Amino acid sequence: MSTLKGKTALVTGSTSGIGLGIAIELAKQGANIVMNGFGDVEGPKAQITAHGVKVEYHGADMSKPAEIEAMMQFAAEKFGGVDILVNNAGIQHTSSIKDFPVERWDAIIAINLTSAFHTTRLAIPYMTQKNWGRIINIASVHGLVASKDKSAYVAAKHGIVGLTKVTALELATTGVTANAICPGWVLTPLVQKQIDARAAEQKISVEQATRDLLSEKEPSHQFTTPEQLGAMAVFFCSDAAANVRGQAWAHDGGWTAQ
Ligand code: NAD
Repeated sequence: MSTLKGKTALVTGSTSGIGLGIAIELAKQGANIVMNGFGDVEGPKAQITAHGVKVEYHGADMSKPAEIEAMMQFAAEKFGGVDILVNNAGIQHTSSIKDFPVERWDAIIAINLTSAFHTTRLAIPYMTQKNWGRIINIASVHGLVASKDKSAYVAAKHGIVGLTKVTALELATTGVTANAICPGWVLTPLVQKQIDARAAEQKISVEQATRDLLSEKEPSHQFTTPEQLGAMAVFFCSDAAANVRGQAWAHDGGWTAQ
C-alpha cells in the first residue's frame, strides 16, 4: 500500500522514539521524509530508507527560529515543500514550580510549543496553495490533564492543543487539516529517564519503577507504542480523516477517561 506516495512529510525530532516511529509508518505508505533531531542520524535514517522512500536530514535546533526557517527552506529545496508536518520534537524536566529552573522553562516552551508555531506558519502557504495538507501535533495526555512537577511541559502541551484548534479553524474551508495526538506513556528515552530517576529515588528496581509508573496513571498498565502512534498519524493523513479538524485524540490506555 502506498497511499502517501509523492507526498513529503517533515517530522521534527525523528531521530528517536515517537518521531522515528511516525516517520517509519509514513514511509511505509510511500511518503518521502525530512528527518530532524539530535543524536545518531544514520541508524534511524536507515530504518526509514528501508521502505524505499527518499530521506533528507536537517539538524535544526527547534528552540531557534532562524534554524527552523532554514529547515523549512531546505525541505522546499529538496522536495518542493512539506505536505505533512508532524510537530513532535520535545523535552521534559520535572521539578516543583518554586524550584523550576528558569532556563528549563524557556527551553520547554520554545521546543515543545513555539517551534510548532514557526513550522506551521511556514508550512501553511505551500499547503493552502496545493489545497492539501496535514498538520499533526504530538501533544500528550498532559495537553488535556495535569500532573504535578511538570509545569512547563503541561503548559506547553495545553498550548499546543490550543494552537491545533486555531490552526484547524483558520484552515477549515481548505484541504488542510490540523489535529493533535495525545499519548499516555510511551517507552522512549524521554520516559526511560523518568523511570530511572524514580528507581534511584525510591531505591527500587527499574522493573518495579516501570510497573509503578504505569499503574499510577494508565488503567491499561500498558505502554502505547511509537508504531501505534504512527498508524494514527497515517489515519489523519487518509481521505477518511479529511474532515477531522482541531481534535486532540488520546491514545492513553484510559488515562484521561478517569
Ligand atoms: P525522545 O527523547 O525519544 O525523542 C525526542 C526527539 O526530539 C529526539 O529526536 C530529539 O533529538 C528531538 N529533540 C529534542 N530537542 C530538540 C531540539 N532542540 N531540536 C530538535 N530536535 C530536538 O522522546 P519521545 O518520547 O519520542 O517524545 C516525542 C514527543 O512525544 C515529545 O513531544 C513528547 O512530549 C511527546 N510525548 C511523549 C510521551 C512518552 O510517553 N514518551 C507521551 C506523550 C507525549
